[in-house]
Order: sequence, then structure tokens, then C-alpha cells
Amino acid sequence: MSSTIKKIGVLTSGGDSPGMNAAIRAVVRTCAFHNVECVGIYRGYQGMIEGDFKEMGPRSVNNIVNKGGTILKSARSKEFMTADGRKQAYQHLIDAGINALVVIGGDGSFTGAEVFNKEFNFPVMGIPGTIDNDIYGTSHTLGFDTALNTVVEAIDKIRDTASSHNRLFFVEVMGRDAGHIALNSGIGAGAEEILIPEEDLGLDRLVESLKRSKLSGKSSSIVVVAEGDKIGKNVFELKDYVEENMPEYDVRVSVLGHMQRGGSPSCFDRVLASRLGVKAVESLLEGKTNFMVGLLNDKVALTPLTQAIKGNTEVDRELLRVSDIMTT
Ligand code: ATP
Repeated sequence: MSSTIKKIGVLTSGGDSPGMNAAIRAVVRTCAFHNVECVGIYRGYQGMIEGDFKEMGPRSVNNIVNKGGTILKSARSKEFMTADGRKQAYQHLIDAGINALVVIGGDGSFTGAEVFNKEFNFPVMGIPGTIDNDIYGTSHTLGFDTALNTVVEAIDKIRDTASSHNRLFFVEVMGRDAGHIALNSGIGAGAEEILIPEEDLGLDRLVESLKRSKLSGKSSSIVVVAEGDKIGKNVFELKDYVEENMPEYDVRVSVLGHMQRGGSPSCFDRVLASRLGVKAVESLLEGKTNFMVGLLNDKVALTPLTQAIKGNTEVDRELLRVSDIMTT
């Protein structure tokens, strides 16, 4: 593959997600495969501003495919939001001979990449790395599948306690703006109700539905709540409301929190990361820029960064229907 690009920089930015390491590995090894140099940039855009770089070869990414987090570390950089910060970053890239960038992160990181490209005409390619699955142009973001498995495993354990004590558990999962984790894990773990930001069930309907469940013979219940759900201000207020209206239930709350972002990536995420990493590097070498690589209809495909950032990632209506039927 002949290209003017001879050295590619790779960074991870924003919240970490399982599969980021597998994607770094794929980028590094695809560069080596095509005789292109590769440089790891530490701490996202902040490391770019500070010139915190490390040359990477195929052996520098041994034994990381199975590791959660990111060996390059991640960061949120306020300085990169300023023209001065970006100018410093650009100068460091030029000094190091880097002439293209792979950014593994979420929509904020892609916005940074777009701004940087516009200012310096610097080739950039995005890989979606976030557990929230809230990026347009891919059916799966890196880490989403692993997070679902983590959540389902946790809920299975909580259910053991719920059914032993006839308890109702509210389990809060991540997803400030998107209910993908709640909806999928709720179906997978057999939750009685799933509350997501996209659908406003209403407190009274929630209580009615739980009462119906109880009458139908259920002695315990699991309600999965996305952290961005609109019906209660927070999961503890939901608990208080249900306790007031259903005194017969012993109600508990479990907030799963950051455990959802960690852990060894699932096989799906490892394979996805490998496919996306190969496509990201090869697309840059073909002269493409300002795209995100993603998975569409099981094929790796490119989506313009602008669309990936702004596009709507609605929850799957068919899944909502399945969930309604399963919670009957
Ligand atoms: P997550 O989905 O986990 O939040 P993210 O990539 O969306 O990941 P952000 O914190 O939104 O995370 O963005 C990461 C970094 O991208 C920011 O800290 C900042 O350095 C850069 N960035 C975001 N928006 C812009 C922008 N408008 N201009 C320049 N840089 C930006």
C-alpha cells in the first residue's frame, strides 16, 4: 500500500472502555504490517499537547488484547479546547514526524479530532470506544458488549438475594442519555421493569405495573434503571416513592457504577476492536480522513465524523416491544 503517510499516532480519550487495548494493538500491528511507523500518545489530547509519546512496535502490544482499561491512559483535556493548546499539540506531532491520527474515544473526542483536522488539515480517523453505545454509524461501540455481560452477571447475583428475601431491587446502570445498556441488560437478566431516558413510563404506571407483577405471583422484582431515566430524579427517590405506595415490599437500591467500565473485554469486543483497528489504519493509508470506523449490518464501514457525532442513536423499537412482552 503506497501512501504519503509514514507515521501514525494513536490515542485513547474520554471515558475508558473494555476493548480499547485490543484496538491499540490492532492499530500498532496494522501499521507494522504495512511498514508504517506507529507512535502511542499518552493521556489522550493532553499527552498530545505535552508531547508525551512512545514509539510502538508489534511486540510492545503483547498480552494486552485481554486487558481492560487502556495502556495509553485516557484523559479529558480542557487545554485541547483552546486554539493555543491545539497549536502546541500540532507542533509536537510535526516534530515527531507523525502525519495521521487514530482517535479511540466517544463523541467528544471525535469533535476534538474534527476541530483539529479543520485547523491543520491533519488526517484523522475515529474508533468508537465507549460502553454507552451512543454513537451513530455503528451498531456496537467498543466496550458495550463487555459492559452488558458485566451488568447481567451482577443482576443475576442481585436476583439471588431479591428472591431469597422477597425484595424489590432498583438496579441503576450507566447511560446518562441513552438506555442501550439498561434495555439490553434488562432483557438479558429478565428484569420486571426497565426505565430508560428515551421512554417516560411515569411513577404511577411503574407502581401499577409492580402491583400487577405482585398479584400475578411474583414475590421479588428487579427494576433496571438507566442513570439518565426521566421519571424519578434519582434512583433513591424512586425507591422512596415505591416504598410509600407498596409498603408490602422491602425495597433496595444497587448502583453498579464504575465496575461497568472495567474488566477483561468479551470476545466480541476483542474481535470488533481488531477489525476496527485494521480498517482505521488502512483507510488512512488510502488517503481517507474525518471518518469513524464502525460496524453496520455486521460489516466494517466508514461514517463521516460529523454524522457520527450528531447522528441520533435511538433505542431499537423492536427491542422495546420484546421488553414489553417479556415483562408481562
Ligand atoms: P465519553 O463518551 O466517555 O464521555 P468522550 O470522547 O465523549 O467520551 P469527552 O470528555 O466529551 O469524552 O471528550 C474528550 C476530550 O475531547 C475532551 O476532554 C477534549 O479534550 C476533547 N474535545 C471535546 N470537545 C471538543 C471541542 N469542541 N473542541 C476541542 N476538543 C474537544
